[in-house]
Amino acid sequence: MTYNNIFERHLDQLHQEGRYRVFADLKRRQGSFPVADHYSQSGRREITVWCSNDYLGMGQHPKVVAAMHEAIDTVGAGSGGTRNISGTTHYHVELEQEIADLHGKEAALLFTSAYVANDATLSTLVKLIPGTVIFSDEKNHASMIAGIQHGGGAKVIFRHNDLADLEAKLRKYPKGTPKIIAFESVYSMDGHIAPLGSIADLAEKYGAMTYLDEVHAVGMYGPRGGGIAERDGVMDRIDIVNGTLAKGFGVMGGYIAASAACCDAIRSFSSGFIFTTSLAPAIAAGALASIRHLKSSTVERTSHQERARRLKSMLKARRLPVIDNPSHIVPVMVGDPTHCKAVTDVLLREYGVYVQPINYPTVPRGTERMRFTPSPVHSNVQMDQLVDALETLWMACPVANGTYVRLAAE
Ligand code: PLP
Repeated sequence: MTYNNIFERHLDQLHQEGRYRVFADLKRRQGSFPVADHYSQSGRREITVWCSNDYLGMGQHPKVVAAMHEAIDTVGAGSGGTRNISGTTHYHVELEQEIADLHGKEAALLFTSAYVANDATLSTLVKLIPGTVIFSDEKNHASMIAGIQHGGGAKVIFRHNDLADLEAKLRKYPKGTPKIIAFESVYSMDGHIAPLGSIADLAEKYGAMTYLDEVHAVGMYGPRGGGIAERDGVMDRIDIVNGTLAKGFGVMGGYIAASAACCDAIRSFSSGFIFTTSLAPAIAAGALASIRHLKSSTVERTSHQERARRLKSMLKARRLPVIDNPSHIVPVMVGDPTHCKAVTDVLLREYGVYVQPINYPTVPRGTERMRFTPSPVHSNVQMDQLVDALETLWMACPVANGTYVRLAAE
């Protein structure tokens, strides 16, 4: 057997299960996103993107684009090194100050992505505080799971957003055992929101640190875009906030915000921070402009929530199986990988609607879905076209229709 045979066997398995992933080859149209060009064997075609995590359309905001141009014209393309070796530019320093202020923390630390921030921070925390037990929500993102695993310490999984289960598990350990509760504010596949205040109460009661991933909330919730912790008035009860610069802020990169001592310790001991080139200055400049804008402008946040509510109610009115939730995420259940892929293929090919099928391991098997992310840049006309197309397909697809009937009957 050759090595390639092994690779092919693994890929065959994915094909058989109907969850082989195909990337759409796209070029966003700056200024008119969500319109984009889709490249395929049949050529180039205009489509509408319905699954971008550029939730507020900040990736094409004039202030963000101008800041990035200006940075390139001023300092060139790359940062030139790790933060330690000439890769700390004034853009990084300013951005960290802005992020610390956004979350009401003493300090912040930039990473090349929120994935890396979660992985690097959680794994380092366990090494810095030996004997730490991490209590992790069962629906936590892969990056937190990776960080916890790489730390090599004890891990206890609690049921999703289940305070009673979390408390029952915390209670089993002496108060003196170091503990971290790791959780998200907005869970991106179902759109659930965690009860932050109640989790902070438990953390206080049992002597745990709180580690909160606000990746799907920063920029979008709270009076200044500080996330759910800001919205709920509990920022001071969260010890470490993880966020991304890629979604609500529309650019790229990740960070933690925490006490000065915590950020300094992670800066000093975390391999995932130390041994990699820092973000390009233009990226830092764009993120800085985006955060600054969203701290004072609420137009995008208000419109974002209105767009999500509107799409959900349109889908419900057509009796399509939207999973209801209190956030901006609009998941529509299909429940089968092959049909999920088939529906999204037809949407793209025949209706110019691009939405990615979501399958295992991103979601549990049997809960395959489409995940729509309406944003302030999606128009009513685009929404009408989407819902009409979905309704037509739903009526024509027996399995999707079966899911609908089952959900409606529940
Ligand atoms: N945390 C959560 C909950 C996410 O959903 C994601 C990515 O989708 C990440 C972290 C990683 O963010 P980034 O894309 O900045 O690496």
